Amino acid sequence: MCGIFGIQGHDEAANIAYLGLHSLQHRGQESAGLVARADDAKTTSGLRRHVAMGLVSDAFGREQLDRLPGAAAIGHVRYSTAGSSELRNAQPFLFDYAGGSVAIAHNGNLVNASTLKARLEASGAIFQTTSDTEVIVHLMAHAREPDVVGRLRAALAQVEGAYSLTMLTDDGKLIGARDPHGFRPLVIGRVKDAYVLSSETSSFDLIEADFFREVEPGEIVVIEKGGLQSYRIAVPAVEPRFCVFEHVYFARPDSLLNQRSVYRAREKMGMKLAEESPVEADVVIPVPDSGVPAAVGFSRQSGIGFEMGLIRSHYVGRTFIEPQESIRHFGVRLKLSPVRSVVDGKRVVVVDDSLVRGTTSRKIVKMLRNAGAREVHLRISAPPTTHPCYYGIDTPTRSELVAASHSVEEIARYITCDSLSYLSHDGLMAAVGAPSAGDGYCSACFTGKYPVPLGRPDEAVLVQLRRPS
Ligand code: AMP
Repeated sequence: MCGIFGIQGHDEAANIAYLGLHSLQHRGQESAGLVARADDAKTTSGLRRHVAMGLVSDAFGREQLDRLPGAAAIGHVRYSTAGSSELRNAQPFLFDYAGGSVAIAHNGNLVNASTLKARLEASGAIFQTTSDTEVIVHLMAHAREPDVVGRLRAALAQVEGAYSLTMLTDDGKLIGARDPHGFRPLVIGRVKDAYVLSSETSSFDLIEADFFREVEPGEIVVIEKGGLQSYRIAVPAVEPRFCVFEHVYFARPDSLLNQRSVYRAREKMGMKLAEESPVEADVVIPVPDSGVPAAVGFSRQSGIGFEMGLIRSHYVGRTFIEPQESIRHFGVRLKLSPVRSVVDGKRVVVVDDSLVRGTTSRKIVKMLRNAGAREVHLRISAPPTTHPCYYGIDTPTRSELVAASHSVEEIARYITCDSLSYLSHDGLMAAVGAPSAGDGYCSACFTGKYPVPLGRPDEAVLVQLRRPS
């Protein structure tokens, strides 16, 4: 879970990248960073970097942006999945090596990072961060190829797992790359004469860019003044496996992913859910914001009226300190509150996009009953989350996933709802337009069928990183 951005050929590159990161803020709120290349750069000092913990608007002001002149920039917003949350892991990283200097921003998780890291350390490499992204840079530094694209191809031929990358070189090349399965998104846009790379098209409206195309799975694009060149990563072609959870929860609903509207896909998930698991009720309410499009679809398909029965506070900061014992369940109540006039005396259908640990839903059900709801029926617009993600979505370890060890009936009892239903896997695949169940998508979090297996040492590292906090 991270957002990446890049721009080449715009005289306000850092400003545009800053706006781009704003529109990717939902992909990560822990740190934000930009690297820009000063146009008169002859030396490595031409790449300038600013990173800080927190939101994009906290990390950057006029002063920081003014110190990042030039026509090319890349940026990153981070949500840590591998590597701890601290400033030294904030991206983009900036490295000097024998071939020059290069900045890199990464979204995704490598599944063989610790194996490669152990090998590199044994041959003398010293790592500055605990992030798996740094492995790519060390592999580039070790490569024999004379140019940066050759080094990157050599590096990417060795890494396994999920990566979408943006890179910036000291001679002003903007590079984008996507792993052969295409787990995480990366799209190309045009604004005036400039090219833009972005995790999602959500950034394009704000910066007035037009969608050009996706970076294909297994493709490296190199953008310079002369235009865009395309290369293939030197590994055998594999089936695309785009992350279906991007459609379910992670991406912004105004984005297009895989040429498909995220909003419409979620609405369809809700419609399918209503078809598969109808219920007699008086009102359909979403868990905002993530459950809204699916609840619209559920309401449309079922004919039951849609209302906003829960209101979300948009001002809940991640750093807010919860009282220890004095007010229990503070977290969810701070974020969501029920609208009594919508739910009092009603049979309520609550639609949410996913159920992970079950703690949020349990609190929501209690909250709605306290506000007078007569019945509470929970409908989840995705299948049960039974397996952790190894490719960059922050899901907890298996032991914390309630659906990994409990039946739907047991979960319903725990949550104390009157009924609970999930969308079927086939229903989900139909909603995202998969030609036949599973084609083109990774849905390992729902099926346990991992397209790229984890190596043993890497599994130990991931489990350790995901210990409940
Ligand atoms: P819980 O079942 O209490 O663990 O939380 C489920 C809620 O978390 C749902 O409302 C989802 O929208 C949201 N959610 C699902 N996956 C994630 C994730 N990877 N990171 C943050 N929130 C998530």
